[in-house]
Amino acid sequence: MRRVVADTNVLVSALQFGGKPKELLDLATDGQVDLAISEAIVAETLRVLRDKFERALNVCPECGKHRRISAEEYIELLTDEGSWRELWGNLRSEDPLQFESYPERLTKAIEKAGPATR
Ligand SMILES: [Zn+2]
Repeated sequence: MRRVVADTNVLVSALQFGGKPKELLDLATDGQVDLAISEAIVAETLRVLRDKFERALNVCPECGKHRRISAEEYIELLTDEGSWRELWGNLRSEDPLQFESYPERLTKAIEKAGPATR
């Protein structure tokens, strides 16, 4: 089997534009060539793709969907840097009326909001 070395430009081109780089990736996926990629190349490719994604305001170029942002990221978008601070971060919801599935729904909502990092 032929062994092929791909750099970041080849991988990013394959994923974004198709063409010959994509054909190479497809051959590797089909097991027709052995694609040799170092961890450094994978890390660089992820960094390049993440930067492009963030510059596109977290919108997927393929399907147009937005990445979910955390509550903190949303606040950062709306306010001046360093102009806000969280108050009463230890407050938690209670369930005095014992709604059905409330604890599970609350857990999911907290996960969706993202971690509090401050
Ligand atoms: Zn998408």
